[in-house]
Amino acid sequence: MNCCDFLLNQICFFPEEICPCCSTTIENTPLRPKTDRENSLSFNLNMFFDLREKYIKEFKDGSPFCYKNCTLYEPYRGEYKQNNNIPFNYITISNRTYCNCNCIYCEQTHNSSREEMNKFKSYDIIPILEELQQKKLIAPNCKFVLSGGEVAEYPQKELQYIFNLSKRINGSLLLLSSGIRYSEEIADVLRTHNTFMTVSVDSGTKETYKKIKRVDAYEQTWKNLKQYIHDAKNNPNADVEIKYIVIPGVNDSLYEAKKFIEKCIKIKCKYIKAEIEHFYMKENYDKPMPENSKEVFRYFFEITKKKKINLMIEGVGRNWVISKINE
Ligand code: SF4
Ligand code: SF4
Repeated sequence: MNCCDFLLNQICFFPEEICPCCSTTIENTPLRPKTDRENSLSFNLNMFFDLREKYIKEFKDGSPFCYKNCTLYEPYRGEYKQNNNIPFNYITISNRTYCNCNCIYCEQTHNSSREEMNKFKSYDIIPILEELQQKKLIAPNCKFVLSGGEVAEYPQKELQYIFNLSKRINGSLLLLSSGIRYSEEIADVLRTHNTFMTVSVDSGTKETYKKIKRVDAYEQTWKNLKQYIHDAKNNPNADVEIKYIVIPGVNDSLYEAKKFIEKCIKIKCKYIKAEIEHFYMKENYDKPMPENSKEVFRYFFEITKKKKINLMIEGVGRNWVISKINE
C-alpha cells in the first residue's frame, strides 16, 4: 500500500493540535496529538514527528491505522523513504480562532460558542515557522494554507511574516476567508504573489446566508469578493474561488444554487468549489444522499461546464459525494 500524501507532505497547526491533515472522519486518533502548553514548541513538534514516523511505518507495513474509515486519504504519487527530515510541501496554519463569522458548520464552535472561541488565546506561529526553517523542513515552493480563524483578522505582524516567508521561498498561498473584512495585505498578495483565495458564501440569497453564517454580511461579502477578483485580475498566479457548502435541508435548493451562480457570474468569478457539509456526511455516511442535494451538485456540474467556470468538489466528503451523486 502506498502512503498518504498528507502524512508525508503536510503539517497542520490547529488551536490545540498539530497533525498531518484535517480529516474529521478520524478525529480522536492519536494522529492528532494535543499541543502541550506546559512544554516547549520543540517538544510539541517532536511529539508530532514521532507519531508521523510511526504512521508512515504502518503504511509501509500495510496496516495503516489512520487510513481506517478515512474519507480524505490521498495516495502519495512519488517514492518515499521513512525519514523525519522530509520537508513539508504544505503547511496549514489554523491555530487562531478569532472569526468575524459564525457558520453553523464551524468545527471550532461544535462544542463551544463563537464568543468563547473569539476569546481563546492561541500560541504564536512565528517561532514555529522559524524552527521549521532552521531544521530545513519547509520545502522550496511550499504552499501555506491559512484558515480559520479569519485570516483577514490575523495580527498584522503574523500575516506579514507568513506572506514574506512565502514570497522569499517562492512558495504559494491558499487563503480561506469569510470575505467579510476587506484586507489590504490580502489584496497585495493577490496582486503580486502566487495566491489563491477561497471564500464560502454557501447561498444565493441574503436570508439563507444569514441562516448559515449567523451574521449580517451578505452584501459586504459579495462587494469584497468583487474587489478581490479585481485585485487578482492582472496576476496570472492569483485568483479567487467561491465556495458552496451543501447543507441538506438548509441550502440544497435549486433556487438558491441558481441565485448563487448568478452572483458569481456577475462578479466574473472563474472558480467555484462545492462540498457536502462534513457533520452531515459523517452522520449519514452509510445512507444515500438526499435527492435535493444531488440535484444541486448536478446543477453545479452542468452550469459550470456551460459557462466555462472551473468546478471542484472538495472537502472530507469529496469521495463520498462523487460516489453518491450517481447512485
Ligand atoms: S490517511 Fe487520512 S487520516 Fe491518515 S494522514 Fe491521510 S488523510 Fe489523514
Ligand atoms: S468562516 Fe471558518 S472559522 Fe469562521 S465561523 Fe465560518 S467556518 Fe468557522
